[in-house]
Amino acid sequence: MNDLFADTLEGGCNCGAVRYTLSPGFRIGPYACHCTLCQTRTGSAFAEHTMVSRAALAVTGAQKCGKTANPSGAEVTLWGCNECGARVWGENASRPGFATLRCGTLDLSAEVVPVGHIWVSSKQPWIALPEGAKAMDEQPRTPEEWMRELGTAA
Ligand SMILES: [Zn+2]
Ligand SMILES: [Zn+2]
Repeated sequence: MNDLFADTLEGGCNCGAVRYTLSPGFRIGPYACHCTLCQTRTGSAFAEHTMVSRAALAVTGAQKCGKTANPSGAEVTLWGCNECGARVWGENASRPGFATLRCGTLDLSAEVVPVGHIWVSSKQPWIALPEGAKAMDEQPRTPEEWMRELGTAA
């Protein structure tokens, strides 16, 4: 079994035109975001992300981007496949040097279990979080808070 927090991981879009390799390096999460923007953006109930070092993420294939704003107001650029439209990763203007990777695009996505849940204040009511799961009404606001709440060193 792979170590999600330490091993080199690979993934990509639905059609295979966009592929990536995530090298060992800084990682936070994976975490589930239940904010209404993620719900709309993914067309689903929540998004499953891990925050990684941008330098550790090598992406190949033609990508297109879309820009939006996060609940915090920060501009987010979402990158996805030019062919099939699957969104794969994003960048947040308030967190330069980091990338947000969509865990469902990992080849081993079935092994991903969120270490925590954010924006549970807008979680869809039918979703029951596992007992004892780390849950925040909103989201961490500082790098220190991100590490404390969703860092992988716990
Ligand atoms: Zn594709
Ligand atoms: Zn969100």
